[in-house]
Amino acid sequence: MLTPGTDNTTGNSVVTPFPGNTDHADAPGQNTVTPAVFQVQGSMSTFGGPMDTGMSPSEGLALFDPQDLTDPRFEGLFLSDQPPDTTGLGRRLNPDKFYLACRWDYTVTSRSFLRNVLAFVQSVSTGQVEQASPVDWGPNTDTGRVADLSPGLAAALGLNTDDDVIITITGTSESFITPAAASTFNGPSGNSEPTVITTDQWGAAPASVSYFAQNPAAGIVIHNTQSANRDPLTGDAEMQAAAQLAQSIQNTHMVENHWADTGQHFTISRGGLILEGRHGSYEAARAGRVVQASHAISSDGSVNLTWFGIEMEGDNRQSDQVTAMQYTALVELCAWLMKWRGVQVLPIKGHQDILAGHTDCPGLFEQRIPALINDAGARRVQLG
Ligand SMILES: [Zn+2]
Repeated sequence: MLTPGTDNTTGNSVVTPFPGNTDHADAPGQNTVTPAVFQVQGSMSTFGGPMDTGMSPSEGLALFDPQDLTDPRFEGLFLSDQPPDTTGLGRRLNPDKFYLACRWDYTVTSRSFLRNVLAFVQSVSTGQVEQASPVDWGPNTDTGRVADLSPGLAAALGLNTDDDVIITITGTSESFITPAAASTFNGPSGNSEPTVITTDQWGAAPASVSYFAQNPAAGIVIHNTQSANRDPLTGDAEMQAAAQLAQSIQNTHMVENHWADTGQHFTISRGGLILEGRHGSYEAARAGRVVQASHAISSDGSVNLTWFGIEMEGDNRQSDQVTAMQYTALVELCAWLMKWRGVQVLPIKGHQDILAGHTDCPGLFEQRIPALINDAGARRVQLG
């Protein structure tokens, strides 16, 4: 749910938009914490790209082959042209992209798994985390290091050679999305953009202002509406229910909270429909931008300016009630928000991680955020 009050320029009332629903009789035991399948801690160095004379001009990569240069899932990792006087994929890597090498055990994390997953890379000294694509096996054990990172990743994390990192990969071969499994998405498949039901299409009231400031997107916050966990419907019935929800939220935010418009950017209905929230959100998102909104108070106020807010219809306080269709739509939307932003990864956080002690939103769905990060990251890779 949103946190009305101080995170809006005009609102000051503290209102719970929906009285919590406590009907959880059919709650399935689906709370899962995705285990780490790979984790190492130790020192790092950097590798790859035209300037890495530590790699021979012909050195390849353990996880990629020359034909991957034209695979839309992977071509973004590489420079468009082979650097002069080189022939190997190692020097062809784009050093600004986030990639890494570790000494993988292919019997635990297979080559095909590694090619489609993102690793979490954490600076031990600062705690900052980024995500990166595994591309190679290494470094050699006699270096005493556990990982080689792209120069861009090291810079983003403020790391210098021999600084300590923690590398973690969560998810299992069952849960990550293989290209073949992508067809199991109920929503868009292949590279078609997800359908977003715009404010015009669901019959939104006009916003009370004509313009919301926009900023480049910096992240994604996941919320839940704390409204009823209704059964998902199909076709026009789901569309009608989703539109009613969107209208109800907008009415609450504008009339009771005195906000300029719906607080969040997107809402995902129980049946997996994606609805635009605040006016202009969809058009801005497709340009990689966030319209100023009102969904998550943060210590410096920046989250409402630069992070997308996505509301999942439902109440997860007693148990994780997000439906499979909702989750599928969420993975798809997150991946496309990253693609539209022109990055491989945007950070994804549950609302409760934005400001400590402020809210328990999105309830126990919080436990699936690591899996969401992996699944959205894998889907993003597919989008190329
Ligand atoms: Zn929230």
